[in-house]
Amino acid sequence: MLCTTVKKDIDCNFMTSQGCTFNGGSCHTIVEKCNGCDHVVSFQGNQYCRAYADPSSKWVLGRCNFATNVIKDGLKESKRLNPLKESKRKSRGK
Ligand code: SF4
Repeated sequence: MLCTTVKKDIDCNFMTSQGCTFNGGSCHTIVEKCNGCDHVVSFQGNQYCRAYADPSSKWVLGRCNFATNVIKDGLKESKRLNPLKESKRKSRGK
């Protein structure tokens, strides 16, 4: 349903005919780490995330998975090889 409170005319799952059902009754503003992200939108002088109602929660466990302002620097660390395959590659000299 289209938002009628903070992010007017943006489709939102939290909006019902009774109003906004998100925790606190409205979206939360962005956090500092969101600056520069393409999902940031301005309404009534405040900045909000187009994708999430509570941007701070997206950064609690690390990088927001939809952030467009941060390069995926942790990709190499998370793409660890299976130790057995790594051992075979080393023995083959690759
Ligand atoms: S997508 Fe993530 S980084 Fe971008 S504004 Fe929303 S919460 Fe912030």
